[in-house]
Amino acid sequence: MVKKALITGISGQDGAYLSKFLLEKNYEVYGLARRNSTDNLNRLDVLKIRNKVKIVDSDLLELSSIQNLIKEIKPQEIYNLAAQSFVPTSFSLPLLSTEINSLGCLRILDSIRNIDRDIRFYQASTSEMFGKVQEIPQSEKTKFYPRSPYGVSKLYSHYITINYRESYNIFACSGILFNHESPLRGNEFITKKISKALTLIKKDKLDCLYVGNIEAKRDWGFAGDYVEAMWKMLNAKKANDYVIATGITHSVKEFIDLASNYLDFDTEWRGEGKQIELIDKKKNSAIVKIDEKFYRPAEVDLLIGDPSLAKSELGWENKVSFENLVQMMVEYDMKNN
Ligand code: NDP
Ligand code: GDP
Repeated sequence: MVKKALITGISGQDGAYLSKFLLEKNYEVYGLARRNSTDNLNRLDVLKIRNKVKIVDSDLLELSSIQNLIKEIKPQEIYNLAAQSFVPTSFSLPLLSTEINSLGCLRILDSIRNIDRDIRFYQASTSEMFGKVQEIPQSEKTKFYPRSPYGVSKLYSHYITINYRESYNIFACSGILFNHESPLRGNEFITKKISKALTLIKKDKLDCLYVGNIEAKRDWGFAGDYVEAMWKMLNAKKANDYVIATGITHSVKEFIDLASNYLDFDTEWRGEGKQIELIDKKKNSAIVKIDEKFYRPAEVDLLIGDPSLAKSELGWENKVSFENLVQMMVEYDMKNN
């Protein structure tokens, strides 16, 4: 029997990679997308799968629409990837972010409870729940301390997923994914912001990149590797929650250095603190500067995950290294900008 999967957030980075992954496993893929005034399914075009997925109109804010979709499609698996996923926006739109990220998850879980408890459910949890980290590295047992409305909203969906598993015996898993990037990452996230801007500077289409806290450290992996972990969770013998990470951390500054190396810039950092600048020595001009507006009301300084449970129970390991990830993103942006 052909398996059916319903993916929320299909227009996003992970929705596109997961769709491709599931299509290759012969799933029938349904993608929940909200109506937009402009077409925003371009990631599916880049991966050449737009005609292979079935797009269905809905919104995580609309309970009856979600219920109807589940009744009509009868999926075996639901992957809840939809979210207001950008941390700074969660500070400016905290209520909307919580409506989508917390109650959106509950709307799906409660629909599963009422319609068909055999549907397997994946929730996109996040390392942002660790926030001000209480332990290094962070594992499934590490205490949470979220530092943004985004992190707090995702903590609700994390626990409600566990609660529905324990209360109603629903096969519901929560993947605590650390930052994962790709050429299809949203433009405002720091990795994409760097690769895009530096390639534009290389082509003399932009003068300077403005960023916030370059000392922040993240455990960055490749989205294509991480969607496999989502599927492995839903196809395991037992439902559980897993940290998905590389186990290696790098600063934003290191990301900038590596990307500028790949682009053959000859650079050096000059100055200190918020006055620091990255100088293109050939032109003797700054190509990266700090702008205070990109600092956050509360910062997550360091994330580094311990993926050993995912390795031992799911046989999952990340494949693409940090260096290869940066190179992949820079090469894509050189070609496409
Ligand atoms: P994106 O921001 O690229 O995609 C988010 C998706 O959610 C988009 O398709 C968006 O649709 C959709 N969406 C937002 N609001 C609604 C709504 N009200 N109803 C229906 N759909 C909605 O995120 P990623 O692909 O990077 O991440 C996928 C998930 O994983 C998210 O939940 C994110 O929080 C989580 N996560 C991501 C990490 C990462 O590093 N990428 C790390 C850990 C967790 P539209 O195009 O219409 O805006
Ligand atoms: P996040 O971990 O989900 O918040 O992913 P981001 O890619 O948005 O941010 C990663 C880190 O980069 C955070 O600690 C940010 O404070 C830091 N950062 C520094 N400058 C910038 C910037 O200009 N934009 C973004 N998005 N993040 C920045």
